[in-house]
Amino acid sequence: MNRHPRHIGWLVNGCAVLFAPLAIAWSDHATLAWPLLRIMPETTVQESVLVETLPEFLAAESESVAALLAQHELWAQSALPHYARLPQQLVFDASLNNVALERSFLEAIRVNPERSYRPYVQHIEGSMALAPEGVISVSELTFLQGTIESSRSTYVGLSSGDRVDPAVVLATASDEPDFGMDIGLFSDNGTDLGLRYGFGPQPFGNPNLEYGSQAPFHMGFYHLDWMTQKVQPGLLATYPLYRTELYRKLAILAFQSGHDYWGWRFMGWGLHYVGDLAQPYHAVPLPGVGLLESLLTVIRGEVEQAIQLVSNRHVVLESFQYQVVRSAVAEQDWDQSTLAEIATLHEGAEWQEDTVVNRLTASSAEAADDLDAALETHAPALLVADPNFEFSGSPQEADILKVIAAHSEDATAGLTTAVDAQMARFSRFAQEWIRSILIAGETPAP
Ligand SMILES: [Zn+2]
Repeated sequence: MNRHPRHIGWLVNGCAVLFAPLAIAWSDHATLAWPLLRIMPETTVQESVLVETLPEFLAAESESVAALLAQHELWAQSALPHYARLPQQLVFDASLNNVALERSFLEAIRVNPERSYRPYVQHIEGSMALAPEGVISVSELTFLQGTIESSRSTYVGLSSGDRVDPAVVLATASDEPDFGMDIGLFSDNGTDLGLRYGFGPQPFGNPNLEYGSQAPFHMGFYHLDWMTQKVQPGLLATYPLYRTELYRKLAILAFQSGHDYWGWRFMGWGLHYVGDLAQPYHAVPLPGVGLLESLLTVIRGEVEQAIQLVSNRHVVLESFQYQVVRSAVAEQDWDQSTLAEIATLHEGAEWQEDTVVNRLTASSAEAADDLDAALETHAPALLVADPNFEFSGSPQEADILKVIAAHSEDATAGLTTAVDAQMARFSRFAQEWIRSILIAGETPAP
């Protein structure tokens, strides 16, 4: 699957700290997935599901959850070459109750337990009406202070016994891994968890950035050339497959045992990684940088500049995509090309254990150079070709739609076409993901 190997061998070990890819990808996964989830027959067949808290689900299914986690651990040890084993003291203890049972589960799946896993949904334009008195602050859902804290989304708390639209549960949960679940898990992240979780030091990314420490969980560099693998082996130590397989199995268990709310929610957690990995910048460390160019970069001592350029292009793409999707959803303009692409139904392949590596990230890696070229063509040079410019947090970022429109006559159309191609990939794999879980979970067919 290395038809288009990416040569970044110049990122020698000493430069690893410079290599700090952004870990956030598409902002607001809930709104991104909504154009599909609102119309997909499989996600609209059930009008509502009964809300249960995590301790309620775990108490009801503690023995089967324990068996599933034991099986997942064995699978991970044999299937993931760079897997760090679960320390014995973190094995799920099914004999505990309530808060202690939930804590044991969260530590056994090695997510950050310092955020709330309470039932809630994100309010999405055009979805079911939610009681305004239930609005909760985003700080109840995450300890992160960055982009999420300033997000314009509204969240509504739910309680055990409420009924909720499963498509909204799925959309909401698909944003949840960006709420801190994968933050602070490595031994050099300055957290107590990181010292106990057994993942060792962070293999790449900048642990000093708020989002930096989730990079190895939200990026999957499965298609590196041999030289990069040798020089930067840390780039191979990624964990999205560990997460998707776990959440897929948990969702199936929840559906099979009649806990549909948790079936949809675990499915949503995994759907997050499907979205991230459909983004070429999450499947290839440095899109558009070829071997010769990278060698010259080293010779000229311009490594830092090259990384700044890639980082700027990555954020330009995501800011543009975010604003296009967000405003089209707010206006319920379902015919807008990006939303229409997301909502295009595809029959076909079922999600398999090897889908992440052999199909999803392979397809993203293959698209990386074209996407990079589109950014170079359709965005102003300041944004995508000036290594002294920091796009993140700039006035241009907030105004990206206007900035692109002013660049050239066909810039908006050109960049939208490039975004739509990535959205088509996301939608295709999202549908495979959803259908395969519902079939295995033996839920009623639409
Ligand atoms: Zn992510």
